[in-house]
Amino acid sequence: MTVSALGEPCVLLKLGEVVLKGRNREMFERRLQANIRAALKETGLKVDLRQRHGVIAIFLPEGTSVETADAVAERITYVPGLVWIHRAWRVAKTPEAVTRAAVELLAGRDDVRRGVSFAVRSRRRDKRFPLTSMQLDRAVGGELNEIYGLPVNLKNPELVVSIEVDRDEVFVYTGGLPGQGGLPVGISGRGLVLMSGGIDSPVAAYRMMRRGLRVDFLHFSGIPFTTSESIYKAYALVRALDKFQGGSRLWVVPFGKAQQSIKASGQDRLAVIAQRRLMLKTAEEVAHRIRAGALITGDSLGQVSSQTLQNITAQDDAVDLPILRPLIGLDKTEIMATARAIGTLAISELPDEDCCTLLAPRRAETAAKIADLKQIEKRLDAEELAVQLADSLQEYKLEG
Ligand code: ATP
Ligand code: MG
Repeated sequence: MTVSALGEPCVLLKLGEVVLKGRNREMFERRLQANIRAALKETGLKVDLRQRHGVIAIFLPEGTSVETADAVAERITYVPGLVWIHRAWRVAKTPEAVTRAAVELLAGRDDVRRGVSFAVRSRRRDKRFPLTSMQLDRAVGGELNEIYGLPVNLKNPELVVSIEVDRDEVFVYTGGLPGQGGLPVGISGRGLVLMSGGIDSPVAAYRMMRRGLRVDFLHFSGIPFTTSESIYKAYALVRALDKFQGGSRLWVVPFGKAQQSIKASGQDRLAVIAQRRLMLKTAEEVAHRIRAGALITGDSLGQVSSQTLQNITAQDDAVDLPILRPLIGLDKTEIMATARAIGTLAISELPDEDCCTLLAPRRAETAAKIADLKQIEKRLDAEELAVQLADSLQEYKLEG
């Protein structure tokens, strides 16, 4: 393929909800651009971002190969705040250059050889172009029809050739990769995810990142009464999720001794909720230290005994910070589908020794009374214990 006829490979990004945010838009766009730059840092490429109306163009250094441009587009599919990522060609702003690029773009394609139906869709962000969108559609479509003999189908084409006339150049492309949608990470502040090794909490983290929260991760391990396995698992999960935000931090609290104290307090059926409240109190203390404004859990209503309405009420009572539960109304199958799509399911399904199994009672209370829980906490001095646990925090930074 002669690159010269096609111009320069570049990547065109379509912004999601950001477009709708009125006065905050500039701030959103700046955040999104920063996130895109951060995501591309690992490529070592010197990229040039250009903000247009509802679109960001990524210009790559001269001579960048098509493969590298494809890799850049692929990497950007993980950055929240974008709905479409197009590997495009940047061509000169003349009808002739556009037509030539469109012809070149379809050369040698299997579907073109098969004779797919097609349509040309032009859009002008800059109206100072000699042709209207419709005229451009016709001119390019006519040429493609003549050269390749493809049938035009405006309603339901199998192949769409997209043309976007911009201020300084024209972009030509076919197809595209769906983005994450949602909002740029960081635009909604910071949250702290209570991260088990299970299936749900990584999905909850993903959901909140996609709503613009930057998240830190907090894992409670059963150490010293369990191995470090659950930490490795949490670490692997954080690494898998890091592609959505970058710079992720995992915090680990050795929780085994505190669990033993809860167990020793005798109230077997309340142990699970008492432990969950202590986790939340500790998480709240950690959140204050890292300036997070919310706690996030993977709770889903009714999934397990700790997730009845009464028990969720008892958990909310333990802390002042809001507890966000993005999975509350989802079925397990829906959660698993997301886990599979974001690449965490296989990690979550690895065996481990979760700290929670240390105190699995024969029958867990499904309607815990807050007064009873407060009794246990008084004996434990839970507020002080939560501070001590937060003091024992260990940070695991992602390498590289
Ligand atoms: P998950 O799949 O996320 O483990 P689950 O269905 O197993 O959830 P629970 O074990 O009741 O449900 O946990 C509910 C939530 O409590 C989890 O989603 C997580 O946010 C938090 N949590 C549970 N165990 C831990 C832990 N060891 N460390 C940190 N958070 C935890
Ligand atoms: Mg669990």
